[in-house]
Amino acid sequence: MNKPVILVVEDDAPIRNLMVTTLKAHDYKYLTAPTGQEAVMMTASHNPDVIFLDLGLPDMDGIDVIERIRSWSNIPIIVISARGEDEDKIAALDAGADDYLTKPFSVEELFARLRVTIRRLSMMNSDSGTDRSIYTNGNLKIDYPAGCAYLNGDELKLTPIEFKLLCLLAKNTGKVLTHTYITQNIWGRSWDNDIASLRVFMVTLRKKLEQSPDPTEYIQTHVGIGYRMIKV
Ligand code: CA
Repeated sequence: MNKPVILVVEDDAPIRNLMVTTLKAHDYKYLTAPTGQEAVMMTASHNPDVIFLDLGLPDMDGIDVIERIRSWSNIPIIVISARGEDEDKIAALDAGADDYLTKPFSVEELFARLRVTIRRLSMMNSDSGTDRSIYTNGNLKIDYPAGCAYLNGDELKLTPIEFKLLCLLAKNTGKVLTHTYITQNIWGRSWDNDIASLRVFMVTLRKKLEQSPDPTEYIQTHVGIGYRMIKV
């Protein structure tokens, strides 16, 4: 993959400049947009690889920007929102954002998220044309059509719901999935008690997946938000 082009959507000039300076220092290409309207226009005209999107924009709600862009593009969007706005983060993820960061954020953290996203992009690109029925990630292998998952070659004894959960996370590797998104996909609804059961299923799934003595963390917990399968 060539050097990816990052679109920085941020109305706060000092923060925007900090991001741009760091992108330049890491040899990334970049574009900037201080408003939601410009973000949508630049995405359509320049087709960037990744978007950093501030949710608090002067002209449009960041969630609307995501929805507009998602109407025609799957480009990864990393949302940046102010501290404590968990509901906004969840709404952004449900609207189709891939990841989120909370202000104030460290530049290292931003770049770590960017690398995860870019790895996912190149994984998706290299996947095209190859066999998508088998998923591999570290020592984990999922045979989707056979309905089986293996760790270090040994078949995992998963319940049907655990297997569904694992597949959903695997198919969205690198992306944060909200509790609502997951429960909608597993049970077709998202009631409070479904989210409570989700927690229980996640505990049992992780126990089977992240085995001692040398457990690999495949699934990240995002407290109050959801879960993410990591590319290990
Ligand atoms: Ca702002």
